[in-house]
Amino acid sequence: MESGVHPLRGHILITHTHWDHIQGIPFFDPLFVPGNEWDIYAPRGLGSSLRESLAGQMQYTYFPVTLEELGAAIRYHDLVEGVFEIGDIKVRTRYMNHPALTLGYRLDADGVSVVYACDHEPHSRQYARGTGTMSEQDRRHIEFMRGADLVIHDAQYTTTEYANKIGWGHTPVDCAVDMSRAAGVRRLALTHHDPLRSDDRLDALCEDLSTSLPQAVRPMEVFAAAEGMVVELEASLDIKEKDTENFSAIASIVPALHEHQVLIGIANETLAAKIQQAAQADNLRILQAETSEEVLGIVRSTRLSLVILDDGQVGGDALETCRAIRNIDVDHARDLPVIIAANAESDAGSEAGVTDWLIQPFTSEYVRTRLLAWVMRSMCRWRRAPFPENEARRIEALKELKLLDTKIEDRFERITRIAAAAFDVPIALVTLVDQDRQWFKSRFGLSVTETPRDQAFCAHTILDKDVMIVRDTLLDPRFADNPLVIGEPRIRFYAGYPLTLPNGTSPGTLCLIDTRPRELDEVKINLLRDLGRLVEREMAATLPS
Ligand SMILES: [Zn+2]
Ligand SMILES: [Zn+2]
Repeated sequence: MESGVHPLRGHILITHTHWDHIQGIPFFDPLFVPGNEWDIYAPRGLGSSLRESLAGQMQYTYFPVTLEELGAAIRYHDLVEGVFEIGDIKVRTRYMNHPALTLGYRLDADGVSVVYACDHEPHSRQYARGTGTMSEQDRRHIEFMRGADLVIHDAQYTTTEYANKIGWGHTPVDCAVDMSRAAGVRRLALTHHDPLRSDDRLDALCEDLSTSLPQAVRPMEVFAAAEGMVVELEASLDIKEKDTENFSAIASIVPALHEHQVLIGIANETLAAKIQQAAQADNLRILQAETSEEVLGIVRSTRLSLVILDDGQVGGDALETCRAIRNIDVDHARDLPVIIAANAESDAGSEAGVTDWLIQPFTSEYVRTRLLAWVMRSMCRWRRAPFPENEARRIEALKELKLLDTKIEDRFERITRIAAAAFDVPIALVTLVDQDRQWFKSRFGLSVTETPRDQAFCAHTILDKDVMIVRDTLLDPRFADNPLVIGEPRIRFYAGYPLTLPNGTSPGTLCLIDTRPRELDEVKINLLRDLGRLVEREMAATLPS
């Protein structure tokens, strides 16, 4: 603004909406000037949208100007892990390990790479304490920083201080240095300094670090980042080495949804209404057709983002309609996603050109998430579990237990209490997987009493005979977009033991949940099996003999 340039155009990348990271926004002058244009980016799945989070801190009680009154045009972008471009800058995002959903950013432009990795805690707590080695996840973090010219890294604690701050989501200084060295980083700017550390003590800390760093072939410069500091970076010659093209991009920015048109070619009114409602919730534009001819007519004349058909379609079967769409001689018909809602997938689908199936029954939240993924042509990282082969017998056995919707019983409560304590997890549950929901017979650390079955991790667990472990939900394509992961209770770790009844069916699980990624060693897995067998014994005791 001092330069007098108008209008001003800019981009703001936000790691997460913890207060220390967004406090400056209401005081950022360029946002108040009409004509200016700003793009604001933050991780998707913060529960309420980014816009709402920012509006929250500018409510009238706290601040005289509301978000709506800001003069500049502001666009909000929800991000997941992946790659996107801002002008000629390539931006990569990577989830950090922090109590709130947080992204780190890597910017590549003009042969220079800069990484911003705050707020982050090493995944292996032993490694963070200096008493063990790093985990696979930590190596992934290092890959993210590989060869960067400048890494601005979380370094809030000393190793001694960290011992009392485990799980707070921040990195000890020594770890930040060690990981950056392993990544071959040129310059390391330490930041997110502990608020109690004075500038003098910070200088002394950096002095110590510089003298203790081994003189490598390519030395790494370490300093404490300070407000107003400017670091000049020159393009290094070994750009090739840093080029990480095969970086696992999962999805990119979600653009404006109202520009997408969805054609619902479904004759069944209830089903059509349910899908339409889900699409409208995300401002997608909806077109409707009831017959195959109408569907084909609209596909010919309109640029669509998605077509959904159902196999009970009036005047022809959906596979036939899909084949006909693929044969329409306009470009946009050939790669148009075509989804069929059905009770089961058909083998003939891929030959007919079906993109995906929407298997019934499903909740509206589930179809909403899938719709977005299809429209954006990105992977939907939320999959509902198929039904077990013995589903009918399983449900029958579950009803026979007479445990659904019964009162709290101490014989189960004590087991979840012990489990939570023994595994040091905030949540431990005895779950029962019913026809279309999972109900909790015992729940330690969780207030809700049931969830829809298509959200249930345990619906996956009961498909198998042994413990299912999800070390980090955000990295698992079955769960990363699950509402229980992106919203409350923000599951990051799950371990479930499938309970088995004497007749061989599985009514539910004993499971452990944490809001942080974790590992479970063989000793602990055995302990979970042991506790699971105690639950099985209690259940069998209620069966008529
Ligand atoms: Zn934070
Ligand atoms: Zn922070």
